[in-house]
Amino acid sequence: MGRLQGKSVIITGAGSGIGRAAALLFTREGAKLIAVDRTEAVNETVDEVKKAGGIAEAMIADAGSEKDVMAMIDKAVKTHGRLDVIWANAGISGGLVPLGEQTVEHWQEVLRVNLIGPFLAVKHAMPHMVKQQSGAIVLTASVAGLKAGASGHPYAASKAGVISLVQTTAYSLTGTGVRINAVCPGLIETGMTKPIFDRAKERGTQDKIGQLNPLKRPGQPHELAAMGLFLASDEASYVNGQAFPVDGGLTAS
Ligand code: NAD
Repeated sequence: MGRLQGKSVIITGAGSGIGRAAALLFTREGAKLIAVDRTEAVNETVDEVKKAGGIAEAMIADAGSEKDVMAMIDKAVKTHGRLDVIWANAGISGGLVPLGEQTVEHWQEVLRVNLIGPFLAVKHAMPHMVKQQSGAIVLTASVAGLKAGASGHPYAASKAGVISLVQTTAYSLTGTGVRINAVCPGLIETGMTKPIFDRAKERGTQDKIGQLNPLKRPGQPHELAAMGLFLASDEASYVNGQAFPVDGGLTAS
């Protein structure tokens, strides 16, 4: 019996990196998945899930659009009869633009995808989960939302916002049996960070990447998926309103 056996699950950003690893792990644990991404890469994720004997459907959608978020939740409820878990994981880095050159449009797009997207997932998943009196919401924040580092200003602000969204929503869900938590990845080797790894390879400095944390290496997507699985599963039944760094110890120092 899997840890998410028979549960109806949505994961956004499932076309790559952490979301893809989560799609593979969650379906191995028995989840019935709607895998969402804005790119067709999500079809490859679903092919991989099916090859491994899992249950998943792909949906191409924008996780920052209210219409699309409503459509993905509707699809999960129509296809699987309920919604047990949503992991709002899709995100964009926004790049490293000097503060004086950042535009309102740049900030708005990063906040739209990284913060308003998770808000919409919470808003539209809540009614179903509250009706069921059960459910688990997982959001992907970042260590960038906990302390200043090498990421861009709108990115860090969006992720700090996600942590705040988790805390305030836990209180909004009082008495409903629905839980909400966030994961805060450190430096993880994914599509998002590929330019960092590629640049280091060009310079022959790849061994220096990830040296700032006590484990002295970058993380891998499956190591985030494992934390997401715990938070989504009934094993985390008393874990609520928290943001968990999965960062090799980076923020412990
Ligand atoms: P990734 O680029 O490999 O995967 C992100 C996926 O999200 C991509 O498939 C992309 O197409 C999708 N996506 C982006 N915008 C979308 C939108 N509007 N609608 C639907 N899908 C969209 O990156 P990743 O590292 O796996 O990122 C997953 C999450 O982890 C993000 O929220 C990111 O901010 C967060 N994170 C990553 C790191 C890291 O070091 N990789 C660190 C901290 C936080």
